[in-house]
Amino acid sequence: MQPWQWPEAHWRGIVEHVRAGRTLRPASWPGGARCAIALSFDSDHETNELREGGESIGKLSQGQYGNRQGIPRILGILAQHGVKASFYVPAVTALLYPDEQRRVAAEGHELALHGWIHERNSVLPEAAERDLMLRAADVLEKLAGKRPVGIRTPSWDFSPSTLKITREMGLLYDSSLMADVDCYELLLDGEPTGVVELPVEWIRDDAVYFNMNRFAGLRPYTPPADVFDIFRRELEAAHAEGGIFQLTMHPHISGYRSRIWILEELIRHAKSLGNVWFAAHADIVRHAKAHAQ
Ligand SMILES: [Zn+2]
Repeated sequence: MQPWQWPEAHWRGIVEHVRAGRTLRPASWPGGARCAIALSFDSDHETNELREGGESIGKLSQGQYGNRQGIPRILGILAQHGVKASFYVPAVTALLYPDEQRRVAAEGHELALHGWIHERNSVLPEAAERDLMLRAADVLEKLAGKRPVGIRTPSWDFSPSTLKITREMGLLYDSSLMADVDCYELLLDGEPTGVVELPVEWIRDDAVYFNMNRFAGLRPYTPPADVFDIFRRELEAAHAEGGIFQLTMHPHISGYRSRIWILEELIRHAKSLGNVWFAAHADIVRHAKAHAQ
């Protein structure tokens, strides 16, 4: 049957399987702040190549740059400005670089789930997806000393089982979906799950503007100054509306001399706007859930 032939119950069922429920928008943020700043870094490193079954030594070296140069530059800026953030780490990255994860955790940042090997979770059978999520949580728990409470799916997508497994695991939140600018509760087949979504957007993701593939037509098409301009406008509007400014960056994509300034300028700009609260995603979600109007 073609989509235009689907009966209403069928297309409604698809749309309503995982859905945004009630908005979780607090009147203000801790300390009376008007804007929460949710900076996040997806430490994919070599897994972007491995998850495709790739063995390109050149691409793997680009992943290693994320560990050798990207992460230290990012952590340096965060420490210099006294800002806490969230790091989403595939288990394979964590196993390749346990010291990096220990340092991230020791510096007070959040470590959260980002798949096993950055697999395409949306095509996984349920049993395999559950097994990988549980094993990934074990890896991060061992390194950080506490079990992760959040997940960002590697493909920013869900399989039909992802939300069910997330709830089973007792996770506090997901940060992979895009139905709002505020936190919201996820519904599974119309029922509230208690799992909170802290929404992302490709617009606020460095990879969209900077990715390049030697053997395909993919090239960076937006200059760093223009990327900064997009992020700055997202930040200013979030501040004006009294909401959340959520941003996703990748150590192996933004951790370069010509790009890393974007992060520092955004932090400076947020501070100059005033009355902002920089926090890990988990803390923002906890506050939003407890103080939703
Ligand atoms: Zn990723």
